[in-house]
Amino acid sequence: MFVASNPVTMRDLPYQLGDRRLILVSNREPYEHVHGAHGIEVRRPPGGVVSALDPLMRRGRGVWVAWGSGSADRDTADERGRVAVPPEDPRYTLRRIWLSSDDVDCYYESFANSALWPLCHMLAHHFEPRTDAWERYREVNERFADAVAEEAGEKSRDVAWVQDYHLALVPAALRERRPGMFIHQFWHIPFPPPDFYRLMPGGMATALLRGLLGNDLLEFHTERYARNFLACVGELLPDLDVDMEGMRVRLGDRDVKVGAFPISIDVEHFEKLADDASAWTLGAKLRQRYASNGRQLAVSVDRVDYTKGIPQRLRALDLMWKRHPELRKCVTFLIVATPSRSGIPAYKKLEDDVAETVRGINARYRTPDWTPILLIAENVAADRLAAIYRAADLCLVSSLQDGMNLVAKEFIASQHDERGVLLLSRFTGAAEDIEGAMLVNPFNIDGLADGIRTALEMPQDERKARMRRMRADLRRATIFDWLDGVMNAASITQAARAAREARV
Ligand code: UDP
Repeated sequence: MFVASNPVTMRDLPYQLGDRRLILVSNREPYEHVHGAHGIEVRRPPGGVVSALDPLMRRGRGVWVAWGSGSADRDTADERGRVAVPPEDPRYTLRRIWLSSDDVDCYYESFANSALWPLCHMLAHHFEPRTDAWERYREVNERFADAVAEEAGEKSRDVAWVQDYHLALVPAALRERRPGMFIHQFWHIPFPPPDFYRLMPGGMATALLRGLLGNDLLEFHTERYARNFLACVGELLPDLDVDMEGMRVRLGDRDVKVGAFPISIDVEHFEKLADDASAWTLGAKLRQRYASNGRQLAVSVDRVDYTKGIPQRLRALDLMWKRHPELRKCVTFLIVATPSRSGIPAYKKLEDDVAETVRGINARYRTPDWTPILLIAENVAADRLAAIYRAADLCLVSSLQDGMNLVAKEFIASQHDERGVLLLSRFTGAAEDIEGAMLVNPFNIDGLADGIRTALEMPQDERKARMRRMRADLRRATIFDWLDGVMNAASITQAARAAREARV
């Protein structure tokens, strides 16, 4: 999940780990030390999820194991890579894993981001499983598991919570080293069905599934992804007993439970950002400039990633303005397309293609007092995004596949005036989680163009009714509800495992 600079408000989390410690394991670290102009500085890598997990860890005694990516990380950690955080008020231990640039290239950029990422998003065209990258992915995952095992100590009964697709092999490796630990994992991206998963070369495909089956509990955003995982296990590991009904895999004397836990945002925080005086000022400026005299302001916000359907969106806009000249000047599209993973050639090329296509569209349709698309090709901070979301009449999410899509939820939270329409790709986790959006298929350019037109023409009372419903639902499903849901499921699964072990 892309990271945003939205600090999550603290609240008490009402679940119990008992006497067990929590060891969180993720690729990204919560605090990064860097050499800055004034000596060593601490940075909080921006990120909704990272900043939701930090308050959880601050409850004490735990350890967070992550890649030490900052330029001054080694200078601030002890010989085992440990540093107490938060730096101003230490509450838990950050254990850093050191990766060489070759490790980062192979484990992270190549295997995680150029093989697992496109495979799970079902975009075969970008799928490049390199054997050397796979070997390094395995090695790095083993190193993470070693560090967790060391932190936990012999005969540990601690709880490990592993994050995401960078670390699929950690659970099984950790279970081998520390069989008494309770291990669970959140998979932040989609999981493909067997026909697609089988594109992964055989040895890698089964090793990844076996790695994930080291968990006691495996969490996905949606039931569809959870069922896809079970179907892959059923097909590629036919000796195992998959219980589709009970959403579990039976492995001899133990079970692996899977479930759906749709992630969300800090709703209150976004509501406040969008209602701040500076958001008002920016919003008023945007509306005056781009949405006066009946003209509408539409927005899109994404990392530049081939999963986001940005070229499809641009083609649909081009088609709409070509077919419906009367819609020219009726809407200005503000597209925030933030460069990301630019070290991977496909991403750099996409950035260039997007800029080029926008230039072409603007050249075709621009008039002296109207520019069809404003492209912002840089990172925009959360407070400014909230102002943009609030000012908008329409938000278009056109992902070809997306685990959840938090932009959709941020737009809803920011829409105090209930004026905006959410046009949402049906291939996002959010489409299965939110009722009230207009769903579109981004592969169907004709349909997408029609969808944008229908959204622009939607009457105010329908917009209000839809938005009101989505806002009420969202307030009942915040990132804290997600965290509670995961932790409660972990407690229940843990209790079931303890009861089973007591019977043996
Ligand atoms: N984001 C941001 N600044 C930008 C672009 C995006 O802070 O310029 C944030 C956005 O607010 C959201 C996140 O990046 O919180 C994107 O998350 P999403 O789930 O939509 O997609 P991902 O990038 O994780 O695939």
